[in-house]
Amino acid sequence: MNKSLRKPLIVGNWKMNKTPHECVELLDELIPMVAEVDRTDIIVCVPYVDLCAAVEKTRGTNIKVGAQNVHSAPKGSFTGEISAEMLLEIGAKSVIVGHSERRTYFGETNETVNLRARAALDAGLKTIICVGETLAERDADTTEEVVGFQTKIALQSVSAEQMANVVIAYEPVWAIGTGRNATTAQAQEVCAKIRSIIRKIYGEYISEHTNILYGGSMNAANCADLLNEPDIDGGLIGGASLKPVDFTVIVKAADDVN
Ligand code: PEP
Repeated sequence: MNKSLRKPLIVGNWKMNKTPHECVELLDELIPMVAEVDRTDIIVCVPYVDLCAAVEKTRGTNIKVGAQNVHSAPKGSFTGEISAEMLLEIGAKSVIVGHSERRTYFGETNETVNLRARAALDAGLKTIICVGETLAERDADTTEEVVGFQTKIALQSVSAEQMANVVIAYEPVWAIGTGRNATTAQAQEVCAKIRSIIRKIYGEYISEHTNILYGGSMNAANCADLLNEPDIDGGLIGGASLKPVDFTVIVKAADDVN
């Protein structure tokens, strides 16, 4: 296994925070802080209404902009939804799909996550697919089974070529927004399992070139240990991504790996 085959990636998930005006203010702070970072990719996934402002503000910088979800259909009667083509046209390059908050509060299933991921990949978006077990599933010792199943279904009918745009984010549900992160050993174990599933489906080369992130209360204090694990290639960051100083510490920790 060779971690240096993968460029670290730090993704901020702003969730339902920041108006367009506040989004520009945050980026005004963040952009100079991470300007020197060149070995780590940085994406901020902002609310839909902030996308245009964020794309405009980050033009010419090392920060890319993504959305937090996408619908599987190209257009039609899906009130409140947004298509991949709409995201592309305004300059979003990436999207998160299958976040546990979408699965828990908005009824998304492994099957709808797969459909959304495929629509995003067909459109050429970098697609960050979230998987992760609940506390009950971990306590029942079914983490590998649950995460393995989520990963396999999410990747159904995704081609080997499309894997170049796939990122898997392992996010234990019990660690998201709780301040309780997985231990480095727990996170590494599940990320390695995810890589082994990718290896079984797509072979060694693709598994070694796919970014697998950890997410779940990653912060300025715990990021270095997590990011140094052999199968953790970056982070999906919620709360700390709203604090430019903390987010910068995480980005720089990723940049210092290898
Ligand atoms: C997330 O929302 O994906 C996340 C990991 O949140 P937090 O970092 O706040 O736990």
